[in-house]
Amino acid sequence: MPAGASSRIEVLPPEVAARIAAGEVIERPASVVKELIENALDAGATAIQVEIREGGFAWIRVADNGTGIPRDQLPLALARFATSKIRSVEDLTRVRTLGFRGEALPSIAAVARVEILTRTAEETEGTRLLAEEGRITMQPAASPVGTAVTVRDLFYNTPARRRFLKSPLREAERVRETVYRYALGYPEVAFRLLVDGREILVAPPGTARERAALIWGREAAEELIPVFWEAADLRIAGLISRPTLARSSRAFQYFYVNGRPVRSGLLAVALERPYAGRLPPGRYPLAILHIELPPAFVDVNVHPQKAEVRFSQERSVYWGVSRAVETALSGFPPPEVPPGFWPGGMPELPARPLAEPLEGYRPASRWRALGQLFRSYILAQSEEGLIVVDQHAAHEQVLFERLWSGSPPVALPTPAVLSFSAREAERLEAELDGIRSLGFDIEPFGGNAFVVRAVPAPLSGQPVEGLLSAILEELQAARRDAGDLRERLAMRLACAAAVKAGDGLSPEEMQALLDALQEAWSPSTCPHGRPAWFLLDREEIERRFLRR
Ligand code: ADP
Ligand code: MG
Repeated sequence: MPAGASSRIEVLPPEVAARIAAGEVIERPASVVKELIENALDAGATAIQVEIREGGFAWIRVADNGTGIPRDQLPLALARFATSKIRSVEDLTRVRTLGFRGEALPSIAAVARVEILTRTAEETEGTRLLAEEGRITMQPAASPVGTAVTVRDLFYNTPARRRFLKSPLREAERVRETVYRYALGYPEVAFRLLVDGREILVAPPGTARERAALIWGREAAEELIPVFWEAADLRIAGLISRPTLARSSRAFQYFYVNGRPVRSGLLAVALERPYAGRLPPGRYPLAILHIELPPAFVDVNVHPQKAEVRFSQERSVYWGVSRAVETALSGFPPPEVPPGFWPGGMPELPARPLAEPLEGYRPASRWRALGQLFRSYILAQSEEGLIVVDQHAAHEQVLFERLWSGSPPVALPTPAVLSFSAREAERLEAELDGIRSLGFDIEPFGGNAFVVRAVPAPLSGQPVEGLLSAILEELQAARRDAGDLRERLAMRLACAAAVKAGDGLSPEEMQALLDALQEAWSPSTCPHGRPAWFLLDREEIERRFLRR
C-alpha cells in the first residue's frame, strides 16, 4: 500500500498549505479525471474504471477498488488542504504519493456537483456523500470496498470557463489521452474507459509491452525494446522504439518520475539525442520511460497540475536518460556517424532542441537585463521579481552545456602551431580523441608541436594558447578514475572562457547571457554546483519594506 494511504485525513497547518504551489487545478474535464485517477492509485487500487458522458461536462465517474475512505473522515476529504498524505513541510521532500496537496476534491466540488460512494474493508456498510453548492450531506449506502466519485455538471456555476473550453469531442479526446497516460505507466493496474457508454479501453493487468500493445497496437509494441540503466541513486527503465519505428510528433513519448507522469521538453531531448543519425529529421521515437530517484532529489511542488517537476541533479538525470537509451540502441548502429564527433557512437546533439522551446514545453517568462552590479552581477527583472545573476557562474554553465552536448568546430583564421614539453605532448596525444570530440581540430605536427585548425563554436574568439593550457591543466590534474574526462575538459574550458568577475558587460551582452541561461538545461547552478542566480520575489521585497 502506498505510504500514507492508511493515515487519517487532516487539514494541513497554514504554514504547510502556504508552501503548496497554488494555481487552478481543475481546468477541464481531463483534469478531473487525472486527479481522480491519482487518488485511486494513491489508495492502492488494482482496478480503475473511468466513465464520461458529453466530453465529461455532463458526467464523470471514476471508480476504484482501493482502500476507501472511512465514514468519519469523508467530509474532511472535501476540505481545502485536507490530506492523508503529508503533514509537514519536510514531507514535501519525501512525497511518494501522486497527490499531496489536499486540493483536488475541494476544487472539483467548487465547480461541479460531486457524489462520493465509498467503503473501507473494516466497515460493514458504505457511505454516500453529496456535495452541491457548498452543502454536504451524507447517508449510509451499499458499496463495494473502494471509492467511486461521480462529478456532474462540470462548470455549471462558471459558464465563462465552460465557454472557453473546446467541444465535448475534443475534451473526450483529452480524457482518453489522460487515461492512456496512466494506463501506460501502470500496466499492473487494470483500466477500463467508457465514453458515452462506448467501451474505449479494456486493459487487464499485464506487462508494459502488453499494455503498449493494447494502446498502440500489437505491431508497434513488437518494435519496442527494453531500456534498463542504473547508477547510484538513479534508475531508468521502460520501453523505447527501435529506429525502424517512429512518429511525426512527440505524442507517443511518456515519462514518469517516481510514477508521476511529467511533461518535459528536456527529457524528450535526452531521449532523442541517441536517435540522431538513426532517425530521419522530423521523426520521433516512441517511449515509455520510468525515472526513479530518491524523492528528495525531485521537487514535485512546482506546477499547479503537478505536470512538471524539477530535478536537483538535472544534468545527471538527462544524461542518465541519454545513456540508457544509447545503451539500448547499441544494437542498432546509425547508418553514418558524423565524422569526428562523439567517439563511442553518440551522434551530435542537434542544436535546435536546446535553442528553441519544444512542443508542449512552456519556457519561463523572459528575463530583462537592468544593469550590472560591481562588474560581477547582472541585475534582471522577471515576472516574479528581481533576479541577481553571477555572470561568471552563469556563463560558465552556458558554455559548459554547449561544449558538453557537442558543438561544431569553427576554423581559426589561420591554423595555430603550438609547441609543448615532451611530457605535455604525450598527455595531449593520449587524449586527442576526447579533445576532438569537443569540437577541436587538432593534430600532431612533428616533434612536440601540434597544429590547431578549429575550435568548438562556443570557444571561438578565445586565444588558442589559453584553451590548450586549460586542457593541459585538466589532463595534469586528472586521475584516470575521476569520472568522465570529456565532461571535465568541458568544465575546465568553460571556466577558462567564461566572463570573469570584474569584466564590464554591455546591455546587449547581459541580455544575451540571460537568454542563453534561460535556455540552459540546468540554469540554476554552474557546473561545479554553485548557484548561478537567485530571485528576490515580491513577497521578500514587501517583507523588507514591512509591507507584510
Ligand atoms: P490529496 O490527494 O492531495 O491528498 P484530494 O483532495 O485529492 O487530496 O483527496 C483528499 C483525501 O481524500 C486524500 O488525501 C485521501 O485521503 C482521500 N481520498 C481521495 N480520493 C480517494 C480514493 N479514491 N480512495 C481513498 N481515499 C481517497
Ligand atoms: Mg488527490
